[in-house]
Amino acid sequence: MPLNVPLDENAQFELLNLRTIVNSIGAHIYAKDLNGRYTYVNQQVCRLFGLPREEILGHDDHDFFDLGEANDLQRFDRRVLDGGETIECEERNIIRQTGEVRYFNTVKTPVRDVDGVIIGMCGISTDITEKKKLEVELERQAHIDFLTNLNNRRHFIELAEHEISRALRYKHPVCLLMLDVDHFKRVNDTYGHKQGDRVLSVLAHSCVDTLRDIDIAGRIGGEEFAFLLPETGREQGLEVAERLRRVLAATAVATDNEGERVHFTVSIGMCLLCSECDTVDNLLNCADKALYQAKESGRNRVCVG
Ligand code: GH3
Ligand code: MG
Ligand code: MG
Repeated sequence: MPLNVPLDENAQFELLNLRTIVNSIGAHIYAKDLNGRYTYVNQQVCRLFGLPREEILGHDDHDFFDLGEANDLQRFDRRVLDGGETIECEERNIIRQTGEVRYFNTVKTPVRDVDGVIIGMCGISTDITEKKKLEVELERQAHIDFLTNLNNRRHFIELAEHEISRALRYKHPVCLLMLDVDHFKRVNDTYGHKQGDRVLSVLAHSCVDTLRDIDIAGRIGGEEFAFLLPETGREQGLEVAERLRRVLAATAVATDNEGERVHFTVSIGMCLLCSECDTVDNLLNCADKALYQAKESGRNRVCVG
């Protein structure tokens, strides 16, 4: 940046130090004029856009970001440039050149002339994409069962509670299925625990393939699964449960021994949302009783509670 004022040695030294700091710091530092055009960028910004400084200065963010409808970036800039606010915010931006989504922790502040009139803004944006990804992954891990990729018990209950309150509000039918593998101990005893795990994983996949996208599936115990079917009454629920039972009974799970397949069956208990069963707990209890009945009456069948 050309300076009109001659600098003494101390000022030059300070400027050099500042330049080094600004370019080696792990953040994107920039200044923009009132029209949002870049007037200064540090090396991190050049790296982010994959462009030399000369090709950035004088351009605005349309050239570097995919500014969609929910355009946080320009909305925040306007608050600083028009409203004179200093804001600290989180931005989600799409890099135009690569289509990559990146998250930034950003501080933006107005730059004023000696009379206090806003002449532009400057900003510091720290890339927090990796941290964000980690957060999303941790949240996923807290909700998802590692072996089957289904919702874990706690998350299933949360999602089911939400769906049930919606169904009660609009008086829509909801059906809950509880499924338990028949004689699963035998599968483990015959083929080993690892093969047992494989069976559970295949079973979960088959269930998801058989169900609709709006159905909520969860692994609620070792070899116990629950499915909440929105907009589903008795007839339709029975059909789904029967289909699941048939599909699983026809499933053959490969083992490490060539040609060897594991077959298994499941028992299913079904319960419908009604005035006596209007909470997840009640529905699970009711379906569990029906499941017990299915086991008692010979397994590989569906019973309604
Ligand atoms: P049934 O339900 O038909 O009455 O008989 P079962 O043999 O399936 O009986 P039960 O439900 O009591 O036993 C479940 C077995 O599932 C016991 C346990 O060792 C096994 N199991 C539970 N979780 C897992 C798991 O994550 N992996 C494997 N491989 N086995 C598991
Ligand atoms: Mg079992
Ligand atoms: Mg069991």
